[in-house]
Amino acid sequence: MTLALTMFGYPRSCFSRHKYQLLSLTICVSLHNTPILLALASAKLDDILALWAGLGYYARARNLHKAANILVRQHKAEMPFSIDELIALPGIGRSTAGAIMALAHQQKHPILDGNVKRVLARYTAISGWPGKKPVEQKLWKIAESLLPEKRITHYTQAQMDLGATICKRNKPLCLQCPLHEDCKAFQLGTPELFPTSKPKKEIPTRQSHWLIAQSNNGKILLEQRPNNGIWGGLWSFPEFDCPINLVSFSQEKLKVNPEEIQHQTSISHVFTHFKLDITPYLVHSSDNYQKIDNNKIFGWYTIRDALQLGIPAPVKAFLTLLE
Ligand code: SF4
Repeated sequence: MTLALTMFGYPRSCFSRHKYQLLSLTICVSLHNTPILLALASAKLDDILALWAGLGYYARARNLHKAANILVRQHKAEMPFSIDELIALPGIGRSTAGAIMALAHQQKHPILDGNVKRVLARYTAISGWPGKKPVEQKLWKIAESLLPEKRITHYTQAQMDLGATICKRNKPLCLQCPLHEDCKAFQLGTPELFPTSKPKKEIPTRQSHWLIAQSNNGKILLEQRPNNGIWGGLWSFPEFDCPINLVSFSQEKLKVNPEEIQHQTSISHVFTHFKLDITPYLVHSSDNYQKIDNNKIFGWYTIRDALQLGIPAPVKAFLTLLE
């Protein structure tokens, strides 16, 4: 279980806070449990994405699936014992690999997840945003230099727990902290100023137009998105570039002849690096909806069936409104 908690960068203490992390935990456990690992590797990515739907961070779901397949094919369904082989697995970076080595294999390796970065930056009063390479490299060096000779498992778990429960981002509980006598940020009286916050940057806005085609019998046309890019591998409404092209897009690309077009209220969805403004158009059509059924990336679904697919949260919201 401890191994699973650390895979893909999830410290144990975080799991009570975020639903998607709980799901990650459940699936991460499977990578260290042979029967579940085999089931995960042979599962369809579509089914995994459907379970993950609405949780965000879909690359993690795809990486779990890929990692499970690599473990089965190249590692006899066992977790590798070398850090390089662990880092080579999709979704596992240096810190996660270090945590697996320490917690699962009792090997001396540092970790540097977000919580540990905060603890170390405060303990040593290192300033600068840890997202900058030079700052991160300094923190890695400190993490390496502090590794104990014994009880690496306890040390690693304690670091994560300290960051999550005592050395919290806001209002750290310094007087309860076992490190406070040596902690430089505490001595300076400004622990919350460490580490330096990420420089604020205005995120760009992108525009998207959705064509929500509904047939006379109530079925909705969905398109499976490519694996790369936003909502990779999930099912969404077909997207088009400009409202002026709505009819031609509908007829030529989707083989749908719009009989009635209703402009829906626009919505915004915020990603890490940009904001997406979505303008949906509901298009009613009496066309024979079988026309593009054979095309693998499109499908007509009843709303109830569509809600069972891997769909992003805004698509789910629209489908629920239409239901
Ligand atoms: S003394 Fe305060 S700032 Fe320093 S490590 Fe402990 S909780 Fe964090």
